[in-house]
Amino acid sequence: MEAGQAKVIPFTNNRLSGRSLLIWRIAQTLVWFVGLFIFFNLFFNPTLGLLLFWNILIPVAPALLVLATGLWRNICPLATTQLMPRHFNLSLKKKMPVSLQAKLQLISVVVLFFLVPLRHAIFNTDGLATAILLMVLSTIAVTMGFIYDWKSGWCSTLCPVHPVERLYGSAAIFSFPNAHCENCVNCSIPCPDSTPNFHPGLSKKTSWHSWSGWLIAGGLPGFVWAWFHVPDQHGIGSISELISIYQIPFLGLVVSLFLFNLIKTVFTKIPEKKLILFFAAAAVSIYYWYRLPALFGFGNFDKDGVLISLVGVIPEWPITVITTITTLFFFWWLLIRKPPANSWLIRPAYLMRQVASKKSS
Ligand code: SF4
Repeated sequence: MEAGQAKVIPFTNNRLSGRSLLIWRIAQTLVWFVGLFIFFNLFFNPTLGLLLFWNILIPVAPALLVLATGLWRNICPLATTQLMPRHFNLSLKKKMPVSLQAKLQLISVVVLFFLVPLRHAIFNTDGLATAILLMVLSTIAVTMGFIYDWKSGWCSTLCPVHPVERLYGSAAIFSFPNAHCENCVNCSIPCPDSTPNFHPGLSKKTSWHSWSGWLIAGGLPGFVWAWFHVPDQHGIGSISELISIYQIPFLGLVVSLFLFNLIKTVFTKIPEKKLILFFAAAAVSIYYWYRLPALFGFGNFDKDGVLISLVGVIPEWPITVITTITTLFFFWWLLIRKPPANSWLIRPAYLMRQVASKKSS
């Protein structure tokens, strides 16, 4: 061995191989092509592209993140794209410092809160704009994949969906095998994929971690509630229109954060984890409380976010029954049930690196 060369000792446990690996690769490829199909439709057939993206894929996502976060982490087409440089050994595999990971996680929460209101003004009704947004996100993700090891550059830091995964994913139904990381190199600390019952209050290594955890857990329910009280509009014609799409969601965000702090201060005996899970259950329940009726034409604004209108075909009460059931379910699943100690994914065996002595061995 040459001087200074790293001696690599891989362990083989928990590493996908053979048939299981093939099945996951097929699933990743299929979902990647579905993503590509939606992407091209956003460009060339925006009516279908917008329907598939905003009215089918996105409404399914929160429930998937609650029940099987790891499944989404394994098959997300953007993750598959982002990790291609690593899979094809083209990444520099840099180790990201923990403080930078925490800062990027905070940025991802802020980006989420700034992007989502823009749906009302631009993305919900403009296929080209949504496609460009996906292109920009993919470019940043892949660039980070060329620089940083495994998921540290995007999936566990900068991705704007990741804060929602962290909030909703504390009670996953299974620990799926990790279909991306071949061996664990400890790229993300703590690794959200491999830590059982992960939630945003778990990591407080730096104040950046605490800020991002507080912002997403405390702020999301009010933000979601308020977001559903803003109608879609076509474009932004003036500063006052721009302000109008942000002011109600941001007011909801602030009120929600205030309530979170108030409960934490007054009811000091409530463990912080319980409070976070209560807010997580509230956020996802509020989402479906408004989104399910809207999908079938019974929303606050009858033309916004409709998948198929059932107005005049069925009465509204069956939808109300379903939203009541989903609300009870999410509170039971996240808050009342004692979940098994599942992580989103099973950590693959560590890749141990020992730097050899400067002298030749
Ligand atoms: S399992 Fe290991 S290599 Fe994969 S994302 Fe987690 S810390 Fe990084």
